[in-house]
Amino acid sequence: MGIMNYAPSALANMFKPPVTTTYPLEPAEYPERSRGHIEIEIDQCIGCGLCVRACPCSTLSVDKLKGTWTIDRFDCIVCGYCVEKCPKNCLYVKQGYQEPGADKSPFTYTKSPEQLAKEEEQRKAIAAKAAAAKKAKEEAEKKKAEEAAKADSADKPVEAKPVETKPAE
Ligand code: SF4
Ligand code: SF4
Repeated sequence: MGIMNYAPSALANMFKPPVTTTYPLEPAEYPERSRGHIEIEIDQCIGCGLCVRACPCSTLSVDKLKGTWTIDRFDCIVCGYCVEKCPKNCLYVKQGYQEPGADKSPFTYTKSPEQLAKEEEQRKAIAAKAAAAKKAKEEAEKKKAEEAAKADSADKPVEAKPVETKPAE
């Protein structure tokens, strides 16, 4: 009796296309609003750390000087707060899941050598500009002090010399 209930479905399914895909032989199709994982355009990152402060799971870290951005995907809940807070829009949620890994260590993205060299040049240019501005300010203050000293000495009254009187002979 049971087989009679099952037979119509089995027969009908023989003429329908499969509902499963042969992933990974063919790409998986994700629902439009599915959340996969967080990705970054690391060369656009300015190392401001706003994403680190926004993350409710404390799973991010940033090293501005080394040009690195690190995420521990095992702690990330893909809430998207970091994406919302990034002022450079360099974070985004990418559909699809991470490939399985052999360990649970956090993943670090590092800026390209070209970008690091460019930022180093910018830092040097800013430091040189600041040093030049500081030197100009110091020189202006020195000049002002010299002029004030000159003005002080010009304003001082000339002391009258005592008149020599010859004794009467
Ligand atoms: S998606 Fe959420 S949990 Fe994941 S790194 Fe961003 S802020 Fe943290
Ligand atoms: S918020 Fe954006 S720009 Fe700032 S450190 Fe994070 S990823 Fe980089």
